[in-house]
Amino acid sequence: MSPPDDFLKTIQRMSRKDLGQLNKSQYSRAERRMINDELVRRSDKRKADKSTSKTKSRHPETRSWSLYPELLGSVDNKLKKPFTFYNVDDGGLHSLKEYDTFVTGDFQCSKRCSSRGWSSGKIAISIRLYDEDQYNARIYHQRCRRCNAVRRPTLDAETYGERISALDGSNFGRQRYLLTDV
Ligand SMILES: [Zn+2]
Repeated sequence: MSPPDDFLKTIQRMSRKDLGQLNKSQYSRAERRMINDELVRRSDKRKADKSTSKTKSRHPETRSWSLYPELLGSVDNKLKKPFTFYNVDDGGLHSLKEYDTFVTGDFQCSKRCSSRGWSSGKIAISIRLYDEDQYNARIYHQRCRRCNAVRRPTLDAETYGERISALDGSNFGRQRYLLTDV
């Protein structure tokens, strides 16, 4: 093993505190650089560990929004012409029009949480119209005020259907792309 490798192994075995307290004037330029690199590597790793623990381990089962293709039935009977559900959440990227409003529903929290759940009349929904009479709607989840977990609501099918039926109206939503004659 060459001396620089030896040196690297030595500093990799040192605690972060000891590493930070090394008297750098005692070392060669190459060695000082290795010490610095090692310190940077460890602080990057700490930052990465912190951010994963925040987003992953705390509430691993939760997402911030979802589609409700299962509510298709409560929409169909309110529409004048048939629409089909576009079961891809593309963030509205390929939609022709989009409309934001609210629906009502109930949230339940986990058994470990002291909250029994809550009802909301202001669950955000983004309804999107796609080509060939297709649509979808992104429903935004809410956070429990007790434990801060994100929860997916059980929607009131009636209001959901009513909101979606706005698709039939001629002034539904805002145009995503303005096509102009060239
Ligand atoms: Zn909770």
